[in-house]
Amino acid sequence: MQTGAEGAHPEAYIDYLVHFHADRDWFECHEILEEYWKKNPDDPRGRTWVALIQTAVALYHHRRGNAAGALKMVSAALRNANDRDLASLGIDDAVFRHRLQERRAELDFEVKRPFRDLDIPLADPELLKRCLRRCEELGLVWGRPSDLNDDFLCNKHMRRDRREVVENRLRAYERRRGAAGEPPRTHSMKQAERGTSSMSKLLEEIISYNRAFVEQKQYEPYLTSKFPDRKFVILTCMDTRLIELLPASMNIRNGDVKMIKSAGAVVSSAFGGIMRSIIVAVYELGAEEVFVIGHHDCGMSAMNPQRMREKFMERGVQPETLEILENSGLDIQRWLRGFDDVNESVRSSVRLIRNHPLMPKLPVHGLVIDPKTGKLDIVDAGYPIRVEA
Ligand code: ZN
Repeated sequence: MQTGAEGAHPEAYIDYLVHFHADRDWFECHEILEEYWKKNPDDPRGRTWVALIQTAVALYHHRRGNAAGALKMVSAALRNANDRDLASLGIDDAVFRHRLQERRAELDFEVKRPFRDLDIPLADPELLKRCLRRCEELGLVWGRPSDLNDDFLCNKHMRRDRREVVENRLRAYERRRGAAGEPPRTHSMKQAERGTSSMSKLLEEIISYNRAFVEQKQYEPYLTSKFPDRKFVILTCMDTRLIELLPASMNIRNGDVKMIKSAGAVVSSAFGGIMRSIIVAVYELGAEEVFVIGHHDCGMSAMNPQRMREKFMERGVQPETLEILENSGLDIQRWLRGFDDVNESVRSSVRLIRNHPLMPKLPVHGLVIDPKTGKLDIVDAGYPIRVEA
């Protein structure tokens, strides 16, 4: 195999160039090349790699208005870049140097020019071809100007830093706990704790995304005042495949419905939380029809209470606890039992709602949805309709 030939540039360098010139993600550029540089301490072009990293960081600072930080980085890049190395990396060293000097002058004298992108002049046509191919693979456009409205692109380091802070805090916490000499934990407890810590990261991720969502007003398409409420309530399953599919397949928009979710879309008790939600939706929130929507391939149709019991104990629930619950009147078998036939289960929930002593007379429909295609089949319609069921 022929390696080490002239122009056999490291993948990280290609990625750097692509992010540098296509999505202008200079934060990503600096991460990619820094990782390569740290992993290859013997690469003789070390200082030039650093110069390229600093160039990306300089532009990152400049774009977000940190002129002082940008000036420092451009100057450092100019000091570190080695012309012969630049040439070996397929860069026109003279033009590159000139562009950096120009940028430094602009920053230095505070010529208040609006920010503009900077391209690295590539002198090697093979290298450019390789970059363009990579762009095509990634669906990116080479040479596109920076999107100055992209808050995430322009302020990426703040998110990264926060994630690091949280991770460090977690590590410190674990160290402290380890040092406290706690008794060895059972397998299941460790598992549970892992669950907890991955959950706190999930929460962190969600809150971080949410901040950007609100800041960038991504909620605007969801503002509901423009659309009339359609006044109905849906009880459906908590199955993850239905989260977006069900509303989409029913042409439901934000503000249209009250949505209640439970395992299996089952109303298991006439005076439990699900039935109470339906009653509140009807009396307090103005719902005028009720839809019970089960689905094919539902986890509740395969529920095995005995297996569930075993899982309780694997996760640390004591057998005595189960005994106490049963002695105080909870029939765990019954409570956890799923259903064999989704149509029958939907019919039975519909019956329970229709005949509930606190329900006014209003249409209650039973349907079953296909979790792949979103196709709805009517099991029990609350009134006759004209469409082919
Ligand atoms: Zn389900």
